[in-house]
Amino acid sequence: MTHAPIGLYVHVPFCTVKCSYCDFNSYAGIDDLQDAWLDAALAELALWAPRLAEREFSTVFIGGGTPSLLSGDAIRRLLDAVRRQLRLAPDAEITLEANPESVRPDRLAAYRDAGVNRISMGVQSLDAAELVFLDRIHGADRAAQAFREIREAGFDNVNLDLIYGLPGQTLQTWQYTVEQVLSWDGGPDHLSCYALTVEEGTPLAARVSAGRVLEADPDFVAELADWTAARLAQAGFRRYETSNYARRGLQCRHNLIYWRNQEYLALGPGAHGYVDGLRYHVVRRPRAYIDRLLHGDPNPPAAAALPSPAIADAEQVGELEDLIDTLTSGLRLIEGVDESGLPPAYDQLRPTIDWAVANNLAQRQSARLSLTRRGHEVANEIFVRLLESVPE
Ligand code: SF4
Repeated sequence: MTHAPIGLYVHVPFCTVKCSYCDFNSYAGIDDLQDAWLDAALAELALWAPRLAEREFSTVFIGGGTPSLLSGDAIRRLLDAVRRQLRLAPDAEITLEANPESVRPDRLAAYRDAGVNRISMGVQSLDAAELVFLDRIHGADRAAQAFREIREAGFDNVNLDLIYGLPGQTLQTWQYTVEQVLSWDGGPDHLSCYALTVEEGTPLAARVSAGRVLEADPDFVAELADWTAARLAQAGFRRYETSNYARRGLQCRHNLIYWRNQEYLALGPGAHGYVDGLRYHVVRRPRAYIDRLLHGDPNPPAAAALPSPAIADAEQVGELEDLIDTLTSGLRLIEGVDESGLPPAYDQLRPTIDWAVANNLAQRQSARLSLTRRGHEVANEIFVRLLESVPE
């Protein structure tokens, strides 16, 4: 029996509108599938559960999409089934992602009653023009009100997602957003501040390539990141990952599982999982997902040994690939990785790490390898170099 923590991710594919920058597997206008999606997710859970009977789940993350569109009853059914069929740790972190426009006091009370103990809300910006640019459908007032409702429902572990580096954003508008959320009833317990990335295939990418939108200058984006880190440190947050800040030790335990390259079961359309050394992803289209689980779609599972017919693809991770995953996710953490615990295949990557150390992008301190402040700014370039150094 393995004692490594394992998490559970459940993907909810519903959104009210599709935001211009979003490449998540989420869809507007399919709310009529909510009941069938839940039945399918419960069927998928039941197929996996016997295989994981010995494992203790330390986290559940209900993400999306917009899980706060789901009723309290739906979340209760889901979490009751999770508790019945998996060994859920008594102190498990159970997060539900929310958007301001769908947060409602009655639903929040029901989520809390069902066992949710952490809310992660997508605020992104409090500047009216930036919200319009992103196609967000909430206003700044609604976001503030939703935060109040979350606190009033008794949640004492709340994350807010913010985005910086938007085209046309100024230091003042970003500072306004950050200062406002810090002033809301004492502020959140956790902040995720992501630099905007223009993802291929999104309406935003089309606008950028048509020359109708000019991407933010990378030096200015770095300036916003520096200001953010300094301001949040002053406000009592500890930065523990490139883009994530927590108060009172309230790091997101579920995301730490990803960054520490530990295992997680993933359910729901398009979800990516990592169980027993196997990385897999679930079929993306919600209707195909439902068909495969509820209506016996004739498409066979990706491999006969897999429990769920909804798996679209799966592969056993080799030692070198696993090591690269450990480095590229673990080095995003301020704690870095334990270099002495890395497998022999690390010798093949060591020259690239030595190069990063020599160039003040990485550092070695008491057997731990981590990125320097400058290294965090150019982390993706370091990871590309690491991948390129892998022998054919
Ligand atoms: S609400 Fe979130 S998941 Fe939905 S479209 Fe917008 S960014 Fe994507």
